[in-house]
Amino acid sequence: MRIDIMTLFPDTVGDLMNESILGRAQERGYIRIETHQIRDYTVNRQNQVDDYPYGGGQGAVMTADPLYRCWCELCEQAAGPVHTIYLSPCGTVFNQAHARRLTNYENLILVCGHYEGIDQRFIDECVDEEISIGDFVLTGGEIPAMAVADAVARLIPGVLSESACFEDESHWSGTLEYPQYSRPEVWHGLQVPSILLSGHHEKVRLWRRKQSLLRTRDRRPDMYKKLDLSSKEDRKILREIADEEAGEDDI
Ligand code: SAM
Repeated sequence: MRIDIMTLFPDTVGDLMNESILGRAQERGYIRIETHQIRDYTVNRQNQVDDYPYGGGQGAVMTADPLYRCWCELCEQAAGPVHTIYLSPCGTVFNQAHARRLTNYENLILVCGHYEGIDQRFIDECVDEEISIGDFVLTGGEIPAMAVADAVARLIPGVLSESACFEDESHWSGTLEYPQYSRPEVWHGLQVPSILLSGHHEKVRLWRRKQSLLRTRDRRPDMYKKLDLSSKEDRKILREIADEEAGEDDI
């Protein structure tokens, strides 16, 4: 997969995307993430990318033309069809299901806005979907683009050592992950749950499932409501939780 990020801050975005896991995945050829300076596609002497908003109002709007020239060049370079995303607080709120869906595209173009946003005509003509990373407003689309690129890239086969790395995690199958512990066994007087030291893989698996269900129920009732907990194993875990909680009430 190739991800192209159109931005006014290509070095900042590139630095982060080339670090650690994503950097190694790029070196090994599993993904390619490129950043592009929108300003390089201006044709005015000041390399100005923004102008005043028609109709008045605060701030400036990124003009369509430099964005379009940059986008056309990226489309020409792409080996196949491209899917273009504008990061915008007006978009659909991003989640893990979106990340999974976006792995189906060979070429993604992520467009970062700035100032008051970008000219609607570029969105109408070139953008396939608008994605928001939450119900708040940032100064630019760079952090959202990096969040989307990271979430998608780590699902590409080969980027993480095994698919179990992400399949076990929060949001993959509708639950939050169980608590994690590492060495030492006792830290600040707090002991790692003894089951995790037992070496009994099946008991560890069941303990983790139980913790995951408890966490999801307590922190994200909206997600918990959607879970199918009808398996024999889950029903047994739920009975165990109910018994434990009834015991606590009696004290
Ligand atoms: N005037 C816009 C509005 O009210 O919807 C906000 C523009 S914002 C200050 C500047 C840029 O930051 C946007 O063009 C977008 O690319 C990015 N941005 C800000 N918040 C975002 C969010 N929650 N999700 C995705 N992108 C966001």
